[in-house]
Amino acid sequence: MAENSKIEWTDHTHNHWTGCTKISPACDHCYAEGWAKRTGNGALWEGQRRLTTEANRRKPLIWNREAGENGIRYRVFCSSLADVFDNQVPSEWREDLFRLIRATPHLDWLLLTKRPPNIAKMLPPDWGNGWHNVWLGVSTENREEMLRRGKALKTIPAVVHFWSAEPLLEDLGPIPADIMPSWIITGGESGPGARPMHPDWARSLRDQCAAHGMSFFFKQWGEWFPECQWEHNPYLALPTSKGIWHIEQLPLHAVGKARAGRLLDGVEHNEFPTRNVR
Ligand code: SF4
Repeated sequence: MAENSKIEWTDHTHNHWTGCTKISPACDHCYAEGWAKRTGNGALWEGQRRLTTEANRRKPLIWNREAGENGIRYRVFCSSLADVFDNQVPSEWREDLFRLIRATPHLDWLLLTKRPPNIAKMLPPDWGNGWHNVWLGVSTENREEMLRRGKALKTIPAVVHFWSAEPLLEDLGPIPADIMPSWIITGGESGPGARPMHPDWARSLRDQCAAHGMSFFFKQWGEWFPECQWEHNPYLALPTSKGIWHIEQLPLHAVGKARAGRLLDGVEHNEFPTRNVR
C-alpha cells in the first residue's frame, strides 16, 4: 500500500485489495506473504482477501491530478500485495479498480499477473484494443511459464505488453518471436531463502531485447552476487560474504540486495517501452 514505491521501475504502487494464493515457483518466497505474516495478516495467504481502505483507494486520484497539473505521467504498479486477475476476488472489487483506472488518464497502470488465462474474461467490456493508460504484463520466472504465460498475454490487446522475469530462476532460452513483449524486466531474488541468478540468464534477455529492438530493465542482482561481476561493483571491495552458492562452476556470494547493486557487466539498464505493440 506504499504511496511512493521503492521498486525501481515504477513511481507508485497501489493495492485495491490484499491477499493471494501461491500458484507457481516464483511465489515460493512471496514478498507479500512475508509482509502479511509479519503484520498478523497471515489469513490473507490462506484464502482470505481484503479490500484496502477508501482513503488508500483514492490516492491514485491525487497522483493523477498532480501528473495532469505538471504535464507528466506516473507509472503505477497495481497489486504488489495481490494479483489483479485473481479469481478468488469479488468481481465488484475489480470493477471498482477499473473505474479508478478509467478516471486517472494521466497515470500509466502496470497490471502484472501470474494468471493470464483470466485476463480476457475479467477485463471491462469496453477494453477494445486496450486502454491507453494500461500496460499488461506477466511473470516469466522459468521457460515453461514464459511460453505459457507469454503466449496467453499476446492474445490480449494492450498498448504495452511486458514481462517480469523476476526472480529469474533459470535460463529462459530463445524467446519465440511471436510472443516477444515490448519490455522485459529481470532480476534476482532477495529476502529469506533467496535463490541465485546466473549472469548468463540475464545477459540472454538483454541481448534478445536488443536484437528485437525491445526495452530491457535490469532491476537487481538480489541476495546473491556472482564472483565474475566483482570488478563492476564499486561497493564490494573485498569478496567477503555470508555464504556461497555455485551454479555450474560459477561462485555466487550472499552479499545482500543493497550491496549487490544492479549493474550487469558494468552497465545499469533502465529502459522503458514505447507504445508500439499494436
Ligand atoms: S501471485 Fe504474486 S502475490 Fe500472489 S502468491 Fe504469487 S508472488 Fe505472491
